[in-house]
Amino acid sequence: MVDEQRISRIVKDVLSNMDTSAAATPKRKQLGVFDTMEEALDAVGKAYAQFRKYNLAQREAIISQIRKLTHEEAETMAKLAVEDTKMGNVYHKILKHHLVADKTLGTEDLDTRAFSGDGGLTLIEMGPYGIIGAITPSTNPSCTVICNSICMLAGGNAVVFNPHPHAKRISAYAVDMVNRAVLAAGGPENIVATVANPTMETSNVMVNHPSVKMLVATGGPGVVKMLLSSGKKAIGAGAGNPPVIVDETADIKKAAKDIIDGCTFDNNLPCIAEKEVFALNAIADELIHHMLKNGAYLLNAAELRELEKVATQWVTNKKGNKVQVINKDCVGRSAKVILEKIGVTVGDDVRCILCETDFSHPFVQIELMMPILPVVRVATFDEAVEMAVKAEHGNRHSAHLHSKNVDHMTQYAKAIETTIFVKNAPSYAGIGFNAEGWTTFTIAGPTGEGITSPRSFTRIRRCVLSDALHII
Ligand code: NAD
Repeated sequence: MVDEQRISRIVKDVLSNMDTSAAATPKRKQLGVFDTMEEALDAVGKAYAQFRKYNLAQREAIISQIRKLTHEEAETMAKLAVEDTKMGNVYHKILKHHLVADKTLGTEDLDTRAFSGDGGLTLIEMGPYGIIGAITPSTNPSCTVICNSICMLAGGNAVVFNPHPHAKRISAYAVDMVNRAVLAAGGPENIVATVANPTMETSNVMVNHPSVKMLVATGGPGVVKMLLSSGKKAIGAGAGNPPVIVDETADIKKAAKDIIDGCTFDNNLPCIAEKEVFALNAIADELIHHMLKNGAYLLNAAELRELEKVATQWVTNKKGNKVQVINKDCVGRSAKVILEKIGVTVGDDVRCILCETDFSHPFVQIELMMPILPVVRVATFDEAVEMAVKAEHGNRHSAHLHSKNVDHMTQYAKAIETTIFVKNAPSYAGIGFNAEGWTTFTIAGPTGEGITSPRSFTRIRRCVLSDALHII
């Protein structure tokens, strides 16, 4: 469990003494960071040839070092991630790094099943895939690199990353940190690698290289589709647009705080974060009242119209159709900064931009990744579920509910079919933050691995010994 008080103390210390970005950009050549994808793949191939001989204890020693350095360098990485991507919140990113270090599963996740009988002994074991090619997002850059590295190395694999170009500095930092941890634990050089300047071309080289046996995409629909059509074994962790329903049985005061806490975490960058609320008429006023007491600012109709123009834009897609999309300049920005763009000045206590809309409003329909929360009033729970399912767009990613009615929980869960379904907590409970269960930053809805862990990156193999080692 992350100790918030401890982290709060560390954050205060660090922010007051923190260096500029130079501190986070070492002068020496970063470990595992190459000029070309071919060089990165060549180096990873050599490292994997050695790593294949490592036993579970050696893998675990490496993972312990990665956890240690992640704790030690959490602040540096959080600061650099915000600086590099211009998105998110340093304090929340620090918490995310500690979460990754504490709650990503290691080799303990690898299960062996055994069958014994007159015919002998059969083992089912989880073996490595080999070299994995992973694409990582700008929204959780270093956390995804570190979480993927721990899981993939636990499974006995090597990994080459093609990170988001807008997060290349922080992603390179994380690859270097993982390599420093591996070397400190006596592991091989470059078991994790990347390129200094990731592009679509470097991504294509990685995807099509014969040494890469598995592909993992953590990102939006474009990258998931591209990897799933590669012809290789691929894991796709794609977009979400998580709805939250609040019914009349909920603890409304707690629901309001939980929703604002979840929605504003890292300025709404997490794919699991609350993106739109469906509130039963009976409790909607009370819910909004308590949201306003928890750092929300309620837009009037004119401000809502202005914000739509600022937070979204119209573009022509490849088919020649005009489509409304997010304005990337607002993604991951704080409520205060976004409100300034429409001429509204608020204090630092305002962390969420609240608005009342109808179901068809773009703020409900588009995955914004900004601390903007539309509330839609509904007459019945059935209507709320119907709208939530439509707003989730079949991503089957995450959905949330505030209710004490078990029948409502069951009805919503069955209808929405999401990988993550959180009841009566902020959305981040779904990745084990202040809740039970392990964490991941690669939530694979489309391909079904769900909350990925080391076993997601393994091949199931059968080892049969005939007529022996059966002692019954
Ligand atoms: P993105 O999809 O814009 O980019 C991800 C990476 O893919 C980048 O490196 C990008 O350059 C590359 N890319 C995009 N299209 C590509 C293509 N056709 N071929 C090759 N490479 C391509 O992601 P982002 O904006 O950083 O992240 C936000 C999106 O990712 C959101 O939709 C969010 O919900 C999703 N996300 C999902 C998870 C999850 O676990 N399911 C986790 C984090 C983010």
